[in-house]
Amino acid sequence: MSNYDVVVIGSGPGGYVSAIRCAQLGMKTALVEKYDTLGGTCLNVGCIPSKALLDSSHHFEDTQKHLEEHGIEVQGPVTFNLAKMMERKSGVVSQTTKGIDFLMDKNKIDVLHGVGAFEDQNTLTVNGKEKQTLTAKHFIIATGSKPASLPFINIDKKRVITSTEALSMTEVPKHLVIIGGGVIGLELGQVYRRLGAEVSVVEYMDRIIPTMDGAQSKELTKVLKKQGVKFFLSHQVQGVAADRDQVTVTALDKKGQEVQFTGDYCLVSVGRKPYTEGLGLDKAGVAVNERGQVQVNDHLQTNIPHIYAIGDVVRGAMLAHKAEEEGVMVAELIAGQKPHINYNLIPGVVYTWPEVASVGQTEEQLIASGVAYKSGQFPMRALGRSRASGDLDGFVKILSDAQTDELLGVHMVGARVADLIAEAVTAMEFRASAEDLARMSHAHPTYAEAVKEAALAATENRPLHI
Ligand code: FAD
Ligand code: NAD
Repeated sequence: MSNYDVVVIGSGPGGYVSAIRCAQLGMKTALVEKYDTLGGTCLNVGCIPSKALLDSSHHFEDTQKHLEEHGIEVQGPVTFNLAKMMERKSGVVSQTTKGIDFLMDKNKIDVLHGVGAFEDQNTLTVNGKEKQTLTAKHFIIATGSKPASLPFINIDKKRVITSTEALSMTEVPKHLVIIGGGVIGLELGQVYRRLGAEVSVVEYMDRIIPTMDGAQSKELTKVLKKQGVKFFLSHQVQGVAADRDQVTVTALDKKGQEVQFTGDYCLVSVGRKPYTEGLGLDKAGVAVNERGQVQVNDHLQTNIPHIYAIGDVVRGAMLAHKAEEEGVMVAELIAGQKPHINYNLIPGVVYTWPEVASVGQTEEQLIASGVAYKSGQFPMRALGRSRASGDLDGFVKILSDAQTDELLGVHMVGARVADLIAEAVTAMEFRASAEDLARMSHAHPTYAEAVKEAALAATENRPLHI
């Protein structure tokens, strides 16, 4: 039996980062992971492989459609090799997960492969190639999430698939029917649209990416429609039937009429659910809520004070960087420090092209909570940088307090806004005003100038370049 200061269960971005921070703070730390590779959903079947495929398919689309406008002539038809694209993606994943092995080694963290299961509040068995028993002063549950589905859908992983299968396809679908116009549906939908699939997105709400600002939904819908993605909004899916070669999705449209979508694959991307199977939470007496999330207080402590939980398995946004922040916070709390997370300032990004990025309150949220605000918006197409690259779609929208001018929300669509949003997060962490942003020098020509211009528009309605 081995004894630790901290045992972390799950090696996703929440778990492995937490283990590193615990080790940095001098704690004897073990990391338990049921799969052979470290990195969890994000590195193995999430953030990293999806971005690799988005980048590869973007190169293909650019070569096929946009190089000519730059005067670059490609002789003969532009083709792609899906197997090679997937091989590259797997290579990127394996380099990244090996990087985590290195970090565990460097920080002298014991890594144990096997399913972690509580025997009681102080003991965890690890059921791997051999059975090991660990005791610890503190446990951190970081077991993440799995794809959610609808009760009447049978995910056969052949015709009816989740993001995991969609990241390892052996053929490009002829017609990919996607249930759910959220982040996964749009990112992976764009990948296969670029590679030639007909893509139909069937969404329950009246807009895609419904939790983001309405202006972003509108702009992304417009751009993706231009790229050939078809949207069926306000559609209530009723059934999914698959045979060997095809799948039919039945839904009710907004008039209550039955409509059918027949394709060769159906991607179910209606969200994810917390994962605690086989963890023995009952034996440890750890409570979960009605959504299956491990219940935690503001310090991410469960009802058993020395057992903490972080990341996708607890409430809040299911994002890698949110899980990482929580992992660091718990390690520092255990070490007696007083860390804090500002959940309002966790940015959200969709890695389509153009990218979509947000931080703070949306306009809809401000209206609902009755906050008086000012709004300023600046289109990317008015920037010299955008004209030079040809990335004309999108805008930056800034919402600030009507009285104090404090930034309340920043919402962007455009080239590289996944990186630009960091400026807004920094400004908001320091409680900057729109005028503060407007008066800062932004290098020319950059996409970041749109942030300054939108801030000028929000402050005194005086953008310089429109
Ligand atoms: P996870 O990454 O899910 O890790 C949990 C780990 O715990 C897993 O390795 C699992 O095997 C292990 N585990 C579970 N139970 C046990 C047990 N009993 N014993 C031992 N090990 C166990 N987020 C972003 O921020 N940016 C993105 O671009 C992004 N893209 C995504 C794309 C896709 C297709 C998907 C599916 C998700 C994406 N996400 C993205 C979300 C992101 O992957 C998750 O928010 C993040 O991985 C959550 O981290 P976590 O540490 O909480 O859990
Ligand atoms: P999501 O919550 O982003 O989107 C789900 C979509 O499905 C929503 O638009 C919702 O209205 C719709 N929906 C729900 N029930 C439906 C039904 N019955 N019929 C039709 N539509 C329905 O979930 P996701 O896209 O599955 O992604 C899961 C999680 O993974 C998200 O929480 C997300 O944060 C994370 N993720 C993040 C990134 C990123 O940060 N770039 C990328 C991929 C995934």
